[in-house]
Amino acid sequence: MEQRTKLLIGGSWTEGHDRFETINPATEEVIARVEEAGPAEVDAAVRSAREAFDNPAWRDMDVHRRAELLWRLADLVEQNLPAIARVETEDNGKPLFESSKVDIPFVVANLRYYAGWADKLAGEVIPVSGPFLNYTRREPLGVVGAIVPWNFPLNLASWKVAPALACGNTVVLKPAEETPLTALLLGELALEAGFPPGVLNVIPGRGRVTGQALVEHPGVDKISFTGSTETGRIVMETAARTLKKISLELGGKSPHVVFADADLEAAVRGVITGIFYGKGEVCAAGSRLFVEESIREEFLARLAARAAKTTIGDPMEATTRLGPLVSKAQYERVLAYIESGVSEGARLLAGGKAATVEGRGYFVEATVFDEVTPDMRIAREEIFGPVLAALPFEDFDDAIAQANDTVYGLASGVWTRDVAKAHQFAAAVKAGTVWVNTYNRYDPGSPFGGFKSSGFGRDLGRQALEEYTQTKSVWVSLQ
Ligand code: NAD
Repeated sequence: MEQRTKLLIGGSWTEGHDRFETINPATEEVIARVEEAGPAEVDAAVRSAREAFDNPAWRDMDVHRRAELLWRLADLVEQNLPAIARVETEDNGKPLFESSKVDIPFVVANLRYYAGWADKLAGEVIPVSGPFLNYTRREPLGVVGAIVPWNFPLNLASWKVAPALACGNTVVLKPAEETPLTALLLGELALEAGFPPGVLNVIPGRGRVTGQALVEHPGVDKISFTGSTETGRIVMETAARTLKKISLELGGKSPHVVFADADLEAAVRGVITGIFYGKGEVCAAGSRLFVEESIREEFLARLAARAAKTTIGDPMEATTRLGPLVSKAQYERVLAYIESGVSEGARLLAGGKAATVEGRGYFVEATVFDEVTPDMRIAREEIFGPVLAALPFEDFDDAIAQANDTVYGLASGVWTRDVAKAHQFAAAVKAGTVWVNTYNRYDPGSPFGGFKSSGFGRDLGRQALEEYTQTKSVWVSLQ
C-alpha cells in the first residue's frame, strides 16, 4: 500500500493547484506535502463522480456485487490495519492503541455493516384507492460530497463513504487539511478492491478552498458534513444557493451526570474515558461533569488522582493514553481555554499545563476544573481538548435543567443504579445519544447525530440510509 499525496480523481492520481504540509503533532515534523484541490480540480472530481454515477458499470451494477466490493474494501483495510493505524497516529497524534484497537477496526466493521445493506434497500407496496399498484423505490441521490474533520479522520470518512456507496451514490471525499493521509489510503484501497473509477474520489485541501468549492458546486447533490457548528452554518448557507440536501454532524458540550447511587469506581473510569479518550478532541466528549452533592468531594478527589496519572507520551508507544493535540493552533486554543478557566475563577484539580515529550509536541495535560459556574466559557463553549469542567447540582430536575442548558445536544451520560432514574434521564435529556452507566460506545448499527446546534441527520445505522437515498413513488394502472 503506497502513501499517495496526490488527488484521486476518476481513478487517477493527479496534481492539484497547490500543496500543503501535514505535520506530525508529536514531533512537529512535516510528514508529507500533499496536493490541494482548487476549484478546477474540485470541478474535475465532481464531473468524474457524475460520469461514474451515470455509467452502467456502477448505476446498473448488481446489488450483490456492490455488497461484495464494500466487503472486499473492508478486507483490504483489515489486511493493512497496522500500517493504516500508524499513519493515522502520525497524522493526528492519537495514541496507537486507539487507532489500532478502536478507530480503524471500526472502519472495517462499518464497511461490512453497510456491505450488508447494499442488497436490502427495499421499497414498499402501498395500499391505495382504485385499481392501481403503487410502490416505492429507494434511489441514490447522485454525487455526494463528504467533508470530514481531523479528529477521527478515516473513521468518520467511513461513516459517510460506506452508506453512500451502499446506496449506489458516488462520492467526492474531502478530508481535513490537518489529517489527509488515511483518506488517500482508502482511495488507493478502493481502486484495488475494484470500485469503478470515479466512484470514490479523494480531494484533500483547506476548508475555505476545497471544501467551499465542493459545497458551491452545482453538480453535487448532497453534502454530508462533520465538523464545527460554526463551519456547519457556513455549509448550510452555501448549500442553500443550489438547494443541496445536507446533513450536519456538529459540535457538542455533552453533560455527564453522576448520581450518588452510582457504582463510583465505574463512574470515575467512565468520566475519565468520556473526556480524555482521543485527547478530548471528540465531538461527544463528556466535557461538563455534574456530580451529586453527597459524593462530590470524594468523587472529584478520585477523579483528579486518576487524571493526574494519565500517561502522556509518544503516541506510538503502546502505554501512551494521551497524545498531542492535532495541531499548534488547536494546542494554543485549548491552552487559552485553560487560562480563561483560571482567570474566571474555576479551581484547577488536575493538569492545567502544556507538556512535551523529548522537548517537543503539542501536548496538554489531562485537566480537571472544579467550582465551575454555568456562565464561564469553559462551561459553555466546546473546547475540543482534554479539559473537564465540574459543576454542582441539587436534585434530578436541576441536573436535567443544567444538562440541557446548552445550545448543543450531541451526547450525554448518566451514572445511577436506579433504573427508573436512568430512563427518566434518557427521556428528558435533549441529546442524540444517551449512555447509561457507560460512555463513548459506538456501533455501526446504532444511529449517531445531534439535537439543537449539534446538527441534523444521522450517521450510522439504518437511519443513515435515509440520508443517501430518495424515495420515488410509482403508480401502475391495473385496468
Ligand atoms: P471544521 O469545521 O473547522 O472543519 C471540518 C471540515 O470542514 C474540514 O474538512 C475543513 O477543511 C472543512 N471546512 C472548513 N471550512 C469550510 C467551508 N467554508 N466550507 C466547506 N468545508 C469547510 O472542524 P474541525 O475543527 O476540523 O473539527 C472539529 C469539530 O468537528 C468540532 O466542533 C467537533 O465537535 C466536530 N465533530 C463533530 C462530530 C459529530 O459527529 N457530530 C464528530 C467529530 C467532530
